[in-house]
Amino acid sequence: MQTQILERMESEVRTYSRSFPTVFTTAKGARLTDEAGREYIDFLAGAGTLNYGHNHPKLQEALVDYITSDGITHGLDMWSQAKRDYLETLEKVILKPRGLDYKVHLPGPTGTNAVEAAIRLARVAKGRHNIVTFTNGFHGVTMGALATTGNRKFREATGGIPTQGASFMPFDGYLGEGNDTLDYFEKLLGDKSGGLDLPAGVIIETVQGEGGINPAGLDWLKRLESICRAHDILLIVDDIQAGCGRTGKFFSFEHAGIVPDIVTNSKSLSAYGLPFAHVLMRPELDKWKPGQYNGTFRGFNMAFVTAAAAFKHFWSDDKLERDVQRKGRIVEERFTKIAAWLTERGHEASERGRGLMRGIDVRKGEIADKITAKAFENGLIIETAGQDGQVIKCLCPLVISDEDLLEGLDILERSVEEALA
Ligand code: PLP
Repeated sequence: MQTQILERMESEVRTYSRSFPTVFTTAKGARLTDEAGREYIDFLAGAGTLNYGHNHPKLQEALVDYITSDGITHGLDMWSQAKRDYLETLEKVILKPRGLDYKVHLPGPTGTNAVEAAIRLARVAKGRHNIVTFTNGFHGVTMGALATTGNRKFREATGGIPTQGASFMPFDGYLGEGNDTLDYFEKLLGDKSGGLDLPAGVIIETVQGEGGINPAGLDWLKRLESICRAHDILLIVDDIQAGCGRTGKFFSFEHAGIVPDIVTNSKSLSAYGLPFAHVLMRPELDKWKPGQYNGTFRGFNMAFVTAAAAFKHFWSDDKLERDVQRKGRIVEERFTKIAAWLTERGHEASERGRGLMRGIDVRKGEIADKITAKAFENGLIIETAGQDGQVIKCLCPLVISDEDLLEGLDILERSVEEALA
């Protein structure tokens, strides 16, 4: 396989091609094929970007029809039929049935663009600078979002420029069992001498993805919401990884019955792997003046088309939600078994997650790396997360067939045994 040009010209910053050093050609559903004709089951799915798998035929058809009928591809943030259809479908299929009333800001197409816009909006709306974020949170790597991201590897890569405008609080479980970490946050808010500038907003992932698949307790999230309300702080749920059905509900916060003031979505929002993000905000928070936050790529018409097609196809009833919860239980069961196998052999491990966002914490990055490298050899693409990369994380497509899911889990189980034999 010819990789010289790739190794020579692409910056050292590349990451996933190091874990999966092959040249991919095609992909369908939950399977990728490389140049040598080898097939891999995909439990990474673009780090949660391909919830509906690769090249889903319904979405592909909608996209191809749009392109071949000369639909608008780029139009800055001008109105298009595709945008209108997207907003109509979002309101009708996703927001209204959930009793949600949000306006939509279309920022640049990546997750970090959406986070930048969301925290800027909170600051503009409240006239305060501080954003509270949580240990192990990951919200992107541009300067504003990076300030709310915990991981030192990214924080140290600013060339020495300090990040600003965020305060870290302990995430749920950070201080061990029996410790409600919100006691500390609430105490600081009530302490005029506690050193915490009253935040404009709190940003949270209900299940931390890059931070190692850490689900916040549902009661904890409810309490966080009421603390925010009591102190006039905006609650921002970053649903970039956990949203779009990943946890078994369209929005991950639905499990807790909370209603954030601001929500960010990206990754699987386009449903097809096209770059796309939006920020949802309570209507009264829309304090933007025309053009006050701009960008060349604000809303991507092709992504409007595939996103709207996915809303119509997958979200008009609760079939997918129920299926994700069912498959989540299959993964949970198998991950629990694998974790027990590891623990019995002296490698302490445990499983955790919500819906199809699940991980096995093997405590050590080297062990997780050994297992995922072996899995790749055996035909499974699966990555790690967490501060040391110690959590093997399953983000398989939500629409994966039971056959592919079980085959992927079998490969993982075999790879664990081979890696640690
Ligand atoms: N927020 C969350 C929760 C994420 O998981 C990510 C990416 O993994 C981001 C923000 C940043 O998204 P992007 O990589 O598209 O900038």
